Amino acid sequence: MYRNMTENTYRANTKVIRIGDRVIGGGNDVLIQSMTNTRTEDVNATVAQILRLEAAGCEIIRCTVPTKEAAEAIAEIKKQIHIPLVADIHFDYRMAIAAMEHGADKIRINPGNIGSGENVAAVVKTAKERNIPIRVGVNGGSLEKSLVEKYGGVTPEGLVESALDKVHMIEELGYDNLVVSIKSSNVLLCIKAHELLAQKTQYPLHVGITEAGTVTSGNIKSALGLGVILYQGIGDTIRVSLTGDPVEEVKSAKLILRNMGLRKGGIEVVSCPTCGRTRIDLIGLAQKVEKMVEDIPLDIKVAVMGCAVNGPGEAKEADIGIAGGDGEGLLIKKGQIVKKVPEDQLLSVLQDELLHWNE
Ligand code: SF4
Repeated sequence: MYRNMTENTYRANTKVIRIGDRVIGGGNDVLIQSMTNTRTEDVNATVAQILRLEAAGCEIIRCTVPTKEAAEAIAEIKKQIHIPLVADIHFDYRMAIAAMEHGADKIRINPGNIGSGENVAAVVKTAKERNIPIRVGVNGGSLEKSLVEKYGGVTPEGLVESALDKVHMIEELGYDNLVVSIKSSNVLLCIKAHELLAQKTQYPLHVGITEAGTVTSGNIKSALGLGVILYQGIGDTIRVSLTGDPVEEVKSAKLILRNMGLRKGGIEVVSCPTCGRTRIDLIGLAQKVEKMVEDIPLDIKVAVMGCAVNGPGEAKEADIGIAGGDGEGLLIKKGQIVKKVPEDQLLSVLQDELLHWNE
C-alpha cells in the first residue's frame, strides 16, 4: 500500500498563509522556492534569472537584501516578474522594513541576528501594517551559544527551541502571519528537527537541507532529507539548495515532489542502466530524451530501454517507449510494438509521437 499523502498529514493542518498571490499551508500544494545568486541591486540580471527560474517551475523566489539599493530594486524587479518575492535579511532590520516598503511579498529574518527587541518590534510593526508574512529562519550554523551549551552541540532539540523562541517573540508582539524554517546541512539532524517541530507548531514549514553541496551530492542529500520529511506529511514549501545554477534546484525540486506523489504533470522518463546487451548509444539517447521532454506538457511515462530482451517488456509498462536493438530500435506505444526505427531516428520519432499525443 502506498501512503496517501493527502490524508492525516501535518501539512493538512498548518495555518494558511498568503504570500503575494500564492497560498501555502492548510493542505495547499507544496510550493517550490529558489534563491537568486545575482546582486539584487542589478535589476536586469536579477529579473533575467528569475524569469529563467519561473520558466523552469519556480513558484516563490527569494533575493538577498543587504543594502538600501537592493531594497529599492525590489519595486522594479517585481514589475517584471510573475511570482512572489521574498526578501532575505540578515543583521540590518532597516533592510527588512525597506524591503516591505518596496513591495516584498514576504521577508525572511532570524530575529536573533537583527539586534535588539526594539528592532524586531519595528520589523513586525511594518509587517503587521501591510499584512506581510515573516519567515522565521534558524540555521544550525548560527544556533545560539546558550542552546549549543544546553544541548551539548547543535541538536534537533536546540534548533527547534531556537525557532520556537523566535516565533514566541513575534507572537508576543501580536503577529502570527508566520512561516518557520530550520535548516542544517546534516540530513539526519534535519529530519529529526522537522519531526519535532511539526509536533510543536501549526505554522507552515519551509523545508530544505541547507548548504547541501554541489549538484550531485546536493541532490542526493536533498532528495533523502526532503523525501523523508515530505513523506511524513511535513513541509509546505521546499528548496533544494545546490552549489550550481539555481535552475537545477527547481528541476530537482519538481522531481522530488513528483516522485513523492505531491505533484502531477510533466513527462517521467524511465531508462535502463545499460549492460553488456546494449547495442545503441542509450546513455546519450536517454539524456537527449530527458531534455527533449522538458517542455512537453503531458503527464505520461516514457521508457528508454537498451535492448530487445528486457526492453520491450519494460517499455510496455510505460505509455510510450523505445527499446534499442543493433543499429535500430522498437517504438512501443501503450504496450504494442508500433514499428522498427533506425537508431539515428529514434529521438525524432519519439518526439513526433509526443508532440501529437492527444491527436
Ligand atoms: Fe541490459 Fe536490456 Fe536491461 Fe537495458 S533493458 S539493462 S540493455 S537487459
